[in-house]
Amino acid sequence: MNQSISSAWPVVLSVAGFDPSAGAGIVADLKTFAAHNCYGVAAITALTVQNTQGVTSVRPVEPGVLKESINSLLSDGRVKALKIGMLWNKTTADVLREILDANSDLPAVLDPVVRSSNQFDLIDAAGLDFLRKKLLSRVTVVTPNITEAAALAEMPVDTVESMKAAARKLVELGARAVVVTGGHLEKCVDVFYDGTTLESFTGDRIKPDNTHGTGCTFSSAVAANLALGRQLRDAVVLAKAYVVEAIRQAFPVGPGRIPLNHLYRMTQPRLTDHSPAVAETVH
Ligand code: PLP
Repeated sequence: MNQSISSAWPVVLSVAGFDPSAGAGIVADLKTFAAHNCYGVAAITALTVQNTQGVTSVRPVEPGVLKESINSLLSDGRVKALKIGMLWNKTTADVLREILDANSDLPAVLDPVVRSSNQFDLIDAAGLDFLRKKLLSRVTVVTPNITEAAALAEMPVDTVESMKAAARKLVELGARAVVVTGGHLEKCVDVFYDGTTLESFTGDRIKPDNTHGTGCTFSSAVAANLALGRQLRDAVVLAKAYVVEAIRQAFPVGPGRIPLNHLYRMTQPRLTDHSPAVAETVH
């Protein structure tokens, strides 16, 4: 049986950390790809120990295994876009530099993960410096939140004007395009700058700031939209709309932060007291 190529979903690769509570990292990325009709594959940079209440420890994956894993997936020849998330240290970041150099035509979205919301560092100082100097210029777009933009641009970022200044600075540092996400501000403003056009996209705050994995999900949605052949600006606008709806339809899965509902488009009727028993519905 030969499936026609046109009906096949594009393959998107996530290289990121593993969050066992499934709100952020690789698992969030794979759910986001699936929600965009993309087939997700993944290579893990580091295992985190975390639940809804936060990260408590991290063990990096051996860099040789990471590199082999990424190259093995890429050698299948179908990956249409790459999303890069948590890198943990310079050694891991250097593996990604090599991969980007060897695959310079592949659209790549870099989510420069700095720390978790419970203030656990997810990259060290040397890794962040390497990311700034060597990775920014090698990806299609970088998607920092305001904390990450402040760390990368080395300036305070807490207003829309400073988000714009940080976006300009990151382009000066070599980034081809930047989206600074401002979900933590009063109004949810995202600033997009590709070196020519600077635009801001404003959305209403729809829930308190207790959502988990928003940055991972946004960057993965951008990558999925690029894999589907969309232009970068359209990919960013659509990714923001997807994240807003996934936040709106989120529900708690533990006592801590609330993961986005990545699969809100998927519906399955819930069993109620009035539902017919399975035996009655299967003849
Ligand atoms: N764990 C992993 C693997 C992540 O990549 C991230 C953020 O990108 C986090 C945890 C932290 O997510 P949050 O700050 O939304 O809790």
